[in-house]
Amino acid sequence: LVRARNVHKSFDQLEVLKGIDLDVMPGEVVVVLGPSGSGKSTFLRCINHLEAINKGFIEVDGEQIGYRLRKDRLEKLSSNGIASQRRKIGMVFQQFNLYPHMTVLQNIVEAPIGVHGESRTAATENALRLLERVGLSEKAGSYPRQLSGGQQQRVAIARALAIKPKLMLFDEPTSALDPELVGEVLSTMRDLAKQGLTMIVVTHEIGFAREAADRVVFMDGGSVVEMGKPEDVLGNPQHPRTQAFLARFL
Ligand code: ATP
Ligand code: MG
Repeated sequence: LVRARNVHKSFDQLEVLKGIDLDVMPGEVVVVLGPSGSGKSTFLRCINHLEAINKGFIEVDGEQIGYRLRKDRLEKLSSNGIASQRRKIGMVFQQFNLYPHMTVLQNIVEAPIGVHGESRTAATENALRLLERVGLSEKAGSYPRQLSGGQQQRVAIARALAIKPKLMLFDEPTSALDPELVGEVLSTMRDLAKQGLTMIVVTHEIGFAREAADRVVFMDGGSVVEMGKPEDVLGNPQHPRTQAFLARFL
């Protein structure tokens, strides 16, 4: 579903991604680990075209992000074209970014109705289903400030799912949460993983990586240093930098 090849990204003189290669199969859950500043968020943002890459390519669902094929030639996409590619990709951030003046339900149906032209009835039905899936059926009419951080993040997950994405990107979804609220969000994510959603998850939750990941990727200094099954990368890391990073979690 995702094919990234030789992805390079620089901000001015600073080279942040130095040739990332990554394939993600449909239904696969890939956890990305790595120290602060290693380029994890930047890589996710490139997949979603929140950042344009300088070299290489990223394909999602058979389409090159930011481009379309026309008469055998790649052409840069218009903003409409980019929006339609983004529709296949849901993203959840560290900060939940819910609209404070909207109820939970309004937050979830906003994009499906406003951006994607779904009918209010269909969007609402789907939103209520999603709230059930994240265990928040009774909160549809609440405002974000009336919810705990963990509940807000589950609403953010439901909102990302509301556009029916083929791929979900999570960027440290639990790192802004109080420790006692981390579990409920991880458990929602574990359920989604079991249901076959394709996910790329940046997290420092090693336990989640061990249980839910099909593959773990360790990034450092803008490169993929090590990649493999969780039991291999986490249990028997080969690269000294992976070993040093994981030693902090023991
Ligand atoms: P963390 O674990 O702290 O979230 P990260 O692995 O997600 O780190 P990135 O946020 O991808 O790291 O940042 C990688 C590098 O790119 C950092 O040195 C950062 O300062 C730089 N960087 C990120 N975004 C920008 C930007 N918009 N302009 C300039 N530099 C940036
Ligand atoms: Mg980051």
